[in-house]
Amino acid sequence: MTENEMLEIFRKHSAVLEGHFILSSGLHSNRYIQCALVLQHPRVAEQLCSELAAKLRHVGATVVAAPALGGVIVSYEVARALGLRALFTERQEGTMTLRRGFSLEPGEPTLVVEDVITTGLSTRETVTAIEEAGGKVVGIGSLIDRSGGAVEFGVPKSSLVDLTAQNYKPEECPLCRSGIPAVKPGSRTKK
Ligand SMILES: [Zn+2]
Repeated sequence: MTENEMLEIFRKHSAVLEGHFILSSGLHSNRYIQCALVLQHPRVAEQLCSELAAKLRHVGATVVAAPALGGVIVSYEVARALGLRALFTERQEGTMTLRRGFSLEPGEPTLVVEDVITTGLSTRETVTAIEEAGGKVVGIGSLIDRSGGAVEFGVPKSSLVDLTAQNYKPEECPLCRSGIPAVKPGSRTKK
């Protein structure tokens, strides 16, 4: 599949929204990606994640990990495509950790995946959680990269669709200034 064909899949499932949004990072944006609308279809999730897996097979990971909740399906489907196991990290009192008895061999090569990379913050937190559990992160993957490629981790990184958005600090947001109501898509409530 080409990048355009993959973007078309996201558009077809109404997963790319244009407007004025408050992201989970607190930044405001002119664009929001709701990957869950695509990933609710297991066959589509499997297809997209196997494309991502093919791009990152060469890093030689033996396990895949992702931050919950958004990354869980991506981790699971990428791991399925690569024949590896799938873990997820989650927040415990604000800190991203590996729970539920998940463990890594010392230095175990780990592929960290996400649905969307925007600021790279949750990816970075996941990398830290994996390292604290003894693993070694050898690659990063996401279905969508909204960062414009600006986020780097010092290991191979790949995404399926580059969908750069304009992100603003709330106090500098021109959409706020022009009086457009901001939507928090996760909860569907208005500011
Ligand atoms: Zn705004």
